Order: sequence, then structure tokens, then C-alpha cells
Amino acid sequence: MITLFESETHKNVMFNDLTSGAMVQANQHVILNGQEGIVLDPGGHKVFSKLISEIPSVIPNNGLKYIFFSHQDPDIIAAANGWLMVTEAQAYLSQLWMGYILHFGVDELVADRINSIPDEGMTLRLDGEPLKIIAAHFLHSPGNFQVYDTVSKILYSGDIGSSFGNDYDMVQDFDAHIQYIEEFHERYITSTKALKMWVEMARTIDIDIIAPQHGAIFPNNEMADRFIDWADNLTCGIDLMEDAFVVPD
Ligand code: FE
Repeated sequence: MITLFESETHKNVMFNDLTSGAMVQANQHVILNGQEGIVLDPGGHKVFSKLISEIPSVIPNNGLKYIFFSHQDPDIIAAANGWLMVTEAQAYLSQLWMGYILHFGVDELVADRINSIPDEGMTLRLDGEPLKIIAAHFLHSPGNFQVYDTVSKILYSGDIGSSFGNDYDMVQDFDAHIQYIEEFHERYITSTKALKMWVEMARTIDIDIIAPQHGAIFPNNEMADRFIDWADNLTCGIDLMEDAFVVPD
């Protein structure tokens, strides 16, 4: 567990060592403001059994108010039923995936605590402080959101900014880090146009840290800006795949 921000009333922590074996490494993020907390992209069953036991140390007194799912992938929503069964939290997921998440065996008794996020996003509140749920559609999922915490100024960017294969938690040398982000963004991030729309939006936000769902975080303004500039110049997704749509021999 790594503490990304801490004040008297507010805390942001990241769990980055709960995934194991061949499963793709994923970070789980937890935010506490006052008495209320949220868990972001909690992951699948093996992570659930570990993370659920850690929650009271970050969010005391059953204060878990929200569960946020950035999109529909198994490393995010596979344990949705467990989270809803053992907590009283309200879950939030893109309206596109409401019917799909039920295929992960969500019990009918708790399904009505999964709330849909409209395409334009929304604002949630933790003990009065706003959490901005902002659009990140096609980055990579067609119904995809990020979270901006207005207190810590952390942008929880989901798959955007994710890195794989590096052995450090925080990016210190951006140029040396490119090798761990490039392939993933070129293949998983759907569209150059969508990425540029995200860049334009991100430049309007006061960001101290970019915290992705996989790999290292961008721990300061300088690294966050370097990443946003890099994303602005990337060609990705379908724009690199014009030769791929051929019938195999
Ligand atoms: Fe995904």
C-alpha cells in the first residue's frame, strides 16, 4: 500500500501488489474524505479477498460509500457481487455495461445498488467534497470513465497512462518510461481522435498526480504534463490497423 496524499480529513492510497501469478498487474485505489470512502476498480476474486480485509484500515466505521468501475473488464468488475454483498456501498458503472455486469453473477438482491453513469459523466460527493466522474470513452472501452479527486488533485486515469513490465512505482524519468507504455497505448487505446479529446480535457484540469490502473503513477506536475504531451503526439488504435482487416490464408 502506498499513500499518495494525506491531510487531516483526506487520504488517497494505492494497492499495487495484490495481483499475482499470470494475471495482469492492476492497481486498486481507495479515497477517504471525512467519514466516507470510495474504492476504484477493485478487480477480480483473488484481489477481492485481499483488498476487502485492508479496507477498514483506510476507511473505518463501514464508511465505504461508493464503488467505481471505470469500464467492464474483468480486472475491474469480476468481483462486483462480492463487493455488493459484504458492503452497503453504491456502485457506479457506464450505462453501456449495466446489463453485462450481471453476467458476472451479481445477485438480484444487490443489483439495484449498481447505478449507471450517463455518457457525459457526473459528480459524486464524499462527505461534501466533489469527485468528478469524467468521460474517457474509447480509452479503451466505448463506455469508459475516469475520476478526478478535487481535494488531492489526483486524476485516476484508468487504462490511460498504464505501464507494464517496469519495476518501479513512480515515474521519475519520463523518456526511460516510454518503453513501458508505448505498446499498450498503441494497441489498447482505440482512437487517436479520442485520445486527443482526452488531452484537451486533461489540460483544463489542475493535476498533481496521474494515477493509472496498471503500473507506475506520474507523481508530480512535471511527469503528468510530460505524459499528456506524449499522449497528444501518439497515433494509436484503429489508426495503426488499416492493414489488419484481411482474411487469413
Ligand atoms: Fe480494460
